[in-house]
Amino acid sequence: MNILILGNGQLGQMLGKAVIQHGHQCLLYSDREHKVKALGSQQALAMSLAEATAWADVATWEHEHLAEEIITTSADKILLKPEQFARITDRRSQKQLCDDLGIPTSPWRAYENAEQLAEILQHCDRAVVIKSAKGGYDGKGQWRWKPGQEIDTVAAEAGVRPGIVEDMIAFTDEVSVVAARSHDNQQCAYPLTLNVHQNGILSYSLAGTTSWSNKLEQLAQQHHAKLCEALDYVGVLAIEFFVVGEGEQQQLLVNEVAPRVHNSGHWTMSGANYDQFALHIRAITGMPLPELLCAPTLMLNAIGVAGYPELLWKAAAADCHWYGKDPRPGRKVGHINMIIDNAERGVQLAQEWAPQLQQLAE
Ligand code: ATP
Ligand code: MG
Ligand code: MG
Repeated sequence: MNILILGNGQLGQMLGKAVIQHGHQCLLYSDREHKVKALGSQQALAMSLAEATAWADVATWEHEHLAEEIITTSADKILLKPEQFARITDRRSQKQLCDDLGIPTSPWRAYENAEQLAEILQHCDRAVVIKSAKGGYDGKGQWRWKPGQEIDTVAAEAGVRPGIVEDMIAFTDEVSVVAARSHDNQQCAYPLTLNVHQNGILSYSLAGTTSWSNKLEQLAQQHHAKLCEALDYVGVLAIEFFVVGEGEQQQLLVNEVAPRVHNSGHWTMSGANYDQFALHIRAITGMPLPELLCAPTLMLNAIGVAGYPELLWKAAAADCHWYGKDPRPGRKVGHINMIIDNAERGVQLAQEWAPQLQQLAE
């Protein structure tokens, strides 16, 4: 099959490798440069997006911030209806969808402009996170505010574009479910992954270690199935959750939905018999979804650094993935996976190495 990937960042490259692995052909469309490229090549092909779409049997994407005209141009080959793509990629309609489906999510209100945002904050008695409806990632496009703080400046800044005001959640943990849905409504899910963030950026993920209750694992998969069915979505989709409450009262609140492969699924490149990229390609090309076997794995993001610390790079146990990007503080440039014995060892390794692998700010 001919597969077109919209977006040409690291997720696009990793998806592209899975396309080739499965014996298909692959082109990538860089929406930043408006150019079509072959996998691993910097050189643009003499081909428009419309021509690449005509070439493709299926089009998929690596990120959800694609301009509307890209989705419109490739709509014939995309497995998701454009209106559903728009619905899940705007925080307002995404949150509304969760509410409509009875999937618990952090309490939220939408605003259209600075005036409405200021009005909401004036009547707000709790700490909140203000998030742009579209375009945010790695904590960008977010503002934190609590009662007593000045309103006008934050409202003017955040209110340039529509967004949501979300209650600040006192979570015990952050977890995600990465799972695929097939054309015939089958689900294939990796175990819940624990995610630890620094400055709104994913620092590390631990998977296959923590004994989350069956109840939480099942809840996450049920929420995933409900969302995918409502969207008629095919492929890998990730949901980020806040874990709140203790023991029997433990609950999952949706933080956000990422309709694509996800950073918190990168551990599967070393810790699972089928990684998330292979799983996505299998799902969108109509192959049967596999039975997953997973090993306890730590995934450490490399952020803003020019290379790996030598000791780590030379460690036989460290499975390194470098993206070939210019390093800038806060920019993801690679990741390292390590199979581990248990959660404690994973946390210990993360605490030892994350500071050496991550330059988060200037
Ligand atoms: P991503 O890179 O995952 O797409 P993003 O920029 O879309 O991130 P969010 O996932 O909404 O942003 O938020 C980033 C992080 O900020 C969360 O993982 C969490 O640690 C923190 N955060 C966001 N919203 C809240 C909230 N309502 N309460 C507490 N913490 C929050
Ligand atoms: Mg996001
Ligand atoms: Mg997030």
